[in-house]
Amino acid sequence: MMNDSEADDGVALALAAWWEANARDLPWRFGRATPWGILVSEVMSQQTQMSRVVPYWTAWMAKWPDARALAGAPKAEVITAWGRLGYPRRALRLQECAQVVTNRYDDELPRTYDELVALPGVGDYTASAVLSFAYGRRVAVLDTNIRRVLSRVFCGQESLGGSASPLEREMAWRLLPEDLPSRRVSRAKGGVAPSVTWNQSIMELGALVCTAKSPLCGQCPLAEWCAFFRAGCPGLGQRRTRPRQRFQGTDRQVRGLVLGALRELPAGETLSRERVEGLWEDRAQLTSCVASLDDDGLIEILPNGSLRLPQ
Ligand code: SF4
Repeated sequence: MMNDSEADDGVALALAAWWEANARDLPWRFGRATPWGILVSEVMSQQTQMSRVVPYWTAWMAKWPDARALAGAPKAEVITAWGRLGYPRRALRLQECAQVVTNRYDDELPRTYDELVALPGVGDYTASAVLSFAYGRRVAVLDTNIRRVLSRVFCGQESLGGSASPLEREMAWRLLPEDLPSRRVSRAKGGVAPSVTWNQSIMELGALVCTAKSPLCGQCPLAEWCAFFRAGCPGLGQRRTRPRQRFQGTDRQVRGLVLGALRELPAGETLSRERVEGLWEDRAQLTSCVASLDDDGLIEILPNGSLRLPQ
């Protein structure tokens, strides 16, 4: 019978092999992006699928390759370039982050957790992801995908959602492979330390195989160790963090319509009050969404009631 340490090693090796063969060739992976580029990819991916992020990230980095370039960009261009990535306040927070990196760190993304997590828009997950993926540091990264996979494989149950618990953090750190030179995996896909491969591969497995609703256990490299699979996947998907929000009719949709109309305007033009009112039937909802966009600094309301992107 295998002991725990042999099982953990088996999981790490199986994951590393799966990563070598299956990792998506995203443009910020495999040593092709700067730490700043990796941070941008993480911020863009927070509430958006990575595959959707690729064209936005590519255009963004071509336009603003480093923090200094983004720091000085006109806000209207930043909001326009964010396009349909959703949750556009992230764009402005990213620009604020760029300004801090430029002014306080001379355009070099800092290398410590405390400095990273103090940047605008950077939380525990993003700081840990940058330390691991950009700087190769041994650090447990906990996003929804990683928590789901770890909970299923090692605890035999769905992860509880909400914020990561101390127990989940302890487990994530305990399972993280040591970065001993003798345990380095193939360099064919970026040549990284085992802890980095571990973080990336579990996250990728959660995105592609061990999905929330329909895990592909028959194709999973971890099936032989997975307590959840062995138990017959009890309560599959029942503990989702939140029920999927409908989009139609929400304030998010209305805010998106207003921003979308503003993005399509030729430079320097404003959106007249009449055109704004034609965007949505429910006047009260429209008014409140315009006010919230203004509060968020995403639009400007001119004295005649027309709108424009911030200048
Ligand atoms: S065996 Fe199934 S539940 Fe277990 S990690 Fe793989 S896909 Fe997820």
